[in-house]
Amino acid sequence: MKYLKLLILAACISMLCGCTAQNRCKKTIYAMDTVMQLEAYGENAEMAIDMAQTEIYRLDSLFDRGDGELAKINHSKGCEASEEVIELVKEALEICRSTDGSFDISVAPLMDLWGFYKKEFRVPSTEEISECLTYTGYENIEVNGNTVKLKNRVQLDLGAIAKGYTSRRIREIFNEHEIKSGLISLGGNVETVGKKPDGSKWNVAIQDPRKTDEYIGVLQSSDNAVVTSGDYQRFFEENGVRYHHIINPSTGYPVQSGVSSVTVVCEDGAKADALSTAIFVMGKDKGIEYWRNNGGFELILTGDGIYITEGLEHCFSSEKKYEIIRK
Ligand code: AMP
Ligand code: MG
Repeated sequence: MKYLKLLILAACISMLCGCTAQNRCKKTIYAMDTVMQLEAYGENAEMAIDMAQTEIYRLDSLFDRGDGELAKINHSKGCEASEEVIELVKEALEICRSTDGSFDISVAPLMDLWGFYKKEFRVPSTEEISECLTYTGYENIEVNGNTVKLKNRVQLDLGAIAKGYTSRRIREIFNEHEIKSGLISLGGNVETVGKKPDGSKWNVAIQDPRKTDEYIGVLQSSDNAVVTSGDYQRFFEENGVRYHHIINPSTGYPVQSGVSSVTVVCEDGAKADALSTAIFVMGKDKGIEYWRNNGGFELILTGDGIYITEGLEHCFSSEKKYEIIRK
């Protein structure tokens, strides 16, 4: 029902926003279970948005676990894959390694067990989870040349990087069409291209995880990806407990790290997407340690308070109290 409402909303909005004015195009699309909004300014704005829309639909079916390329790989224990999928799996595996398995693209059987794919939610027994954990683990995924090999019954789930990869592809399309100003908003994944037509930076509102129609603050952004993972984006409740869609790969349960949302800001949409999921799993202290040791991105964390890393000091504004984390 929720998705039907979203579809109707998307249809209504796309009727309202079109490409009427010259050099300006806006479109709302429903794909990947999310309402997406694209906005572009420039001579080729309409063409860029049309191509971006086609690309979104292509990637939506590529990542579809029902009958996309990923489904084909999962149904075989190893098969040839397109260069695009090979490169993305390699990129994801690097993040699995660098985050010591907090990010793990083999969580597919666990997502199934908790009913997140079919939206038939249930709390599994501890025995079911233990059994399921015996056939997860990114170490069982191997890439050799143009082949992906899946050992020990593991299956790929690229859900934590797919939207970020998609926004990166749209940015590339915008660049090819010389779009100097644009906004790519795919649910919790936002990418800002250049500045607004009036020369000011784009404002990206960071949602309040507990009052989702309110914001904890606003980030001024230009040429950056701003990606949020949160326990409020997909969840069900049973006996007063919230079970959400980000799984701790070492326990098989939805993460209980005390963090409610993690926003990663960096130049690359796919990296920001993977890291926001990974740092959500790590929790505040380990996540900040990872930021200190690796760098190349900034963070906004919410949980028992609001924390931002020092690189965002001059572009984040909030009426709420927040702490600045320094290196
Ligand atoms: P995101 O919303 O980007 O944080 O990604 C969450 C999605 O990624 C889930 O719906 C799962 O498909 C998958 N996922 C859940 N937990 C993990 C994890 N620890 N590592 C990688 N992918 C995950
Ligand atoms: Mg993610």
